[in-house]
Amino acid sequence: MEVKTFGVIGAGQMGGGIAQVAAASGLNVIMNDINDSFVLKGLQHITSNLGRMADKGKITSEVKDAILSRIKTSSSLQDMVQADFVVEAATENQEIKFKIFQDLDSICEKHTILSTNTSSIPIGRVASQTSRPEKIIGMHFMNPVPVMKLVEVIRGIATSDETFDITWNLSLKFGKTPAQAQDYPGFIANRILMPMINEAVYCLYHSVGTKEDIDTVMKLGMNHPMGPLTLADLIGLDTCLAIMETLYEGFSDSKYRPCPLLRKYVEAGWLGRKTGRGFYEYE
Ligand code: NAD
Repeated sequence: MEVKTFGVIGAGQMGGGIAQVAAASGLNVIMNDINDSFVLKGLQHITSNLGRMADKGKITSEVKDAILSRIKTSSSLQDMVQADFVVEAATENQEIKFKIFQDLDSICEKHTILSTNTSSIPIGRVASQTSRPEKIIGMHFMNPVPVMKLVEVIRGIATSDETFDITWNLSLKFGKTPAQAQDYPGFIANRILMPMINEAVYCLYHSVGTKEDIDTVMKLGMNHPMGPLTLADLIGLDTCLAIMETLYEGFSDSKYRPCPLLRKYVEAGWLGRKTGRGFYEYE
């Protein structure tokens, strides 16, 4: 099957980035969110990203305009009837994702592959919400999508070889390097990354160090490009908490218990960069 029209559900930081790389690869993109203001915010973000690239001479203004012309916005899931391949990148919440997959299953054509950018929700669980488990797969991009090279491709128990091959080849078409992971909580990336971030939050909670000291130790001591608390702010503290909850529940193991301080920040609406405040404050 040839993918010509590519659907993206959720126009937040991940959905916007995915729409941008898909359009840059030449695909027609439909980017959907729950209402016009969210979709327009996503489109503005893409426009300013591409503008910065044009200013730096990485792309011409003609290329920028061509990429933007391939992105159509949508606030009705019904528009996904046109898509050959959909990536769901809505909020990391199982109930929200289940509803989206139930709706997509009834709206989309039979040939359409439905993938999820979930950070941790089992692919098999998402597939069970549909009548096409062989066409359900994890396509897990990294943040920021236009910059980061990796796509973790996660096979559910029923994912077909054809679905896997199409997803793998799309990742290559987007200029990414795919890696395959099996369907266990957190897959590879977040099974390793999130416990480290959670432990950094515990260090802050137990006053082992200040946020700056914790980040400096991991940056300079482990050669990480950014400290774990800065990274948590970039990812979104709500997303970090949701992933820890999935690991905790999925393995029934107390070693994955989310730090109470992380929960407290999320309850206060301090979600990181996207809300202007997380462990650090942002303009
Ligand atoms: P975000 O909060 O920036 O964006 C989520 C978007 O989904 C919002 O615009 C919201 O309005 C929209 N949305 C919610 N319900 C919807 C619905 N029913 N239909 C359509 N849109 C809906 O979150 P994000 O950081 O972009 O994360 C999105 C997904 O990507 C999550 O599953 C997350 O786990 C995953 N992810 C995030 C990162 C990261 O670093 N933030 C990295 C990899 C994967």
